[in-house]
Amino acid sequence: MTTAVVVGSGPNGLAAALTLAAEGVDVTVLEASDSPGGGTRSGEVTLPGLLHDHCSGFHPLALDTGFSRQFDLAAHGLEWLWPEVQYAHPLHGGRGAAVVRSVEETAAGLGGDGSSYRRMFGPLSAHFHDIVGEFLQPMVHVPRHPFALGWFGVHAALPATVLARRWRTDGARALFGGVAAHAFRPFGSVMSSAIGVALGTAAHRYGWPVARGGSAAISRAMVSALESYGGRVETGALVRDHRELGRPDILMLNTAPAAAASVLGSAQPPRIARAYSRFRHGPGAFQVSYAVEGGIPWEYEPSRRAGTVHVGGNFEEIAAAERDVVRGVMPDRPFVLVGQQSVADTGRASDGVHPVDVYAHVPSGWSGDATEIITAQIERYAPGFRARILSTRSRSVAQIEQANPNYVGGDIITGANTARQLVFRPRVTLQPYATGVPGAYLCSAAAPPGAGAHGMAGWNAARAALADLAR
Ligand SMILES: Cc1cc2nc3c(=O)[nH]c(=O)nc-3n(C[C@H](O)[C@H](O)[C@H](O)COP(=O)(O)OP(=O)(O)OC[C@H]3O[C@@H](n4cnc5c(N)ncnc54)[C@H](O)[C@@H]3O)c2cc1C
Repeated sequence: MTTAVVVGSGPNGLAAALTLAAEGVDVTVLEASDSPGGGTRSGEVTLPGLLHDHCSGFHPLALDTGFSRQFDLAAHGLEWLWPEVQYAHPLHGGRGAAVVRSVEETAAGLGGDGSSYRRMFGPLSAHFHDIVGEFLQPMVHVPRHPFALGWFGVHAALPATVLARRWRTDGARALFGGVAAHAFRPFGSVMSSAIGVALGTAAHRYGWPVARGGSAAISRAMVSALESYGGRVETGALVRDHRELGRPDILMLNTAPAAAASVLGSAQPPRIARAYSRFRHGPGAFQVSYAVEGGIPWEYEPSRRAGTVHVGGNFEEIAAAERDVVRGVMPDRPFVLVGQQSVADTGRASDGVHPVDVYAHVPSGWSGDATEIITAQIERYAPGFRARILSTRSRSVAQIEQANPNYVGGDIITGANTARQLVFRPRVTLQPYATGVPGAYLCSAAAPPGAGAHGMAGWNAARAALADLAR
């Protein structure tokens, strides 16, 4: 029987394990932490009974993938729930902008920019099923839907500053700035629109859903499915050297590239080890979880019904903050993402107290405490927020990295979204999952298609391994 060891149980590690196990491979997943799931874990970090997501909260790109079609995770308990407003962006004076599932309805809220919004996101959303299939695989491939991909690429290739010129109102520009900032890139850089265009379109096509009962439900479902194929997960098992693992036929590394090089040691060709050491990580994140009585009292009302709220002011303010963090400077008013999972999953609130999961973009390796800065940012758009906080738990950049070594320097997306790394990651090659060691593959978010709790790097890597095995 073919054997496989998967190092790391993030969504990509579990997706790889499941894909291999479904083909009859005997799979063991080794996880350093004391619980499986990597970026898809949840726990009571503020008050008893209040469930917070440790990392990933919203899953717009997990719904319509090769992996989700192959494995019915609903049969293993996974249920998606949607907020009424997918994401909102409050501005001063109770103004703002918001995205709902309907392009028409969203456009209607954008005044003079509505028709331009509709012209861009209408066709993108109509063809997104085809587009998403193209970009959730290595970028260099023969496209099956060249026209749809081309239409996406025309927008995605632009710097966010250039694409944002199609809008004039503060609301529409800020709305795009907020979603583009998910890329952790300076807005003037090539392809800095790509992530924003993808996530913005996904909000219409699929919504930004949460997993009922917390993101840990995703990993629970994946582990349950894996076990149904005879696979297993061992926790508390930090892997330092591939020679500890016996000789599995397939080794999947759900790690950052430098960690993969360290595990493979001298077995890896030096040329590839050097390429892994040059892999660029992005800025960091500083996290605060709040227990909030009655939820956040946003002035801009649609923010109260939104799963995600982007806080950071207008487009120019966000652009300045993002430029700073990439340069290594901590902004006074950083870009802040507020996750209100209980808006969609009402069972997550307890006795009127809501779990709120927030992070700010900060420079890589930043050693400060951003708790007060983040609270002040939210208070600016939600006066009275501070008075409603019952409990707070902060995680510094160092603590985030300590909890998960894939988040190097607090880089929660495991790899900077530079134009080069959007196209070629983790190195310039047509075989992005191959590590140079026969039978060993990189299957983390450092490999295509990059960050997100959708499991597609794992699914792609496992399929590459199975294809190699068949040869
Ligand atoms: C605060 C935060 C918010 C986020 N929000 C979202 C969101 O809303 N939506 C979204 O889609 N994504 C979000 N993400 C990103 C998402 O969580 C990641 O992109 C995703 O989890 C990457 O999956 P992965 O399987 O590649 O690796 P990870 O989930 O990072 O898991 C890697 C696993 O491997 C283990 N590991 C590493 N090295 C070893 C070793 N040597 N031995 C044994 N085990 C090892 C780690 O302990 C970890 O469990 C967020 C991340 C963070 C931190």
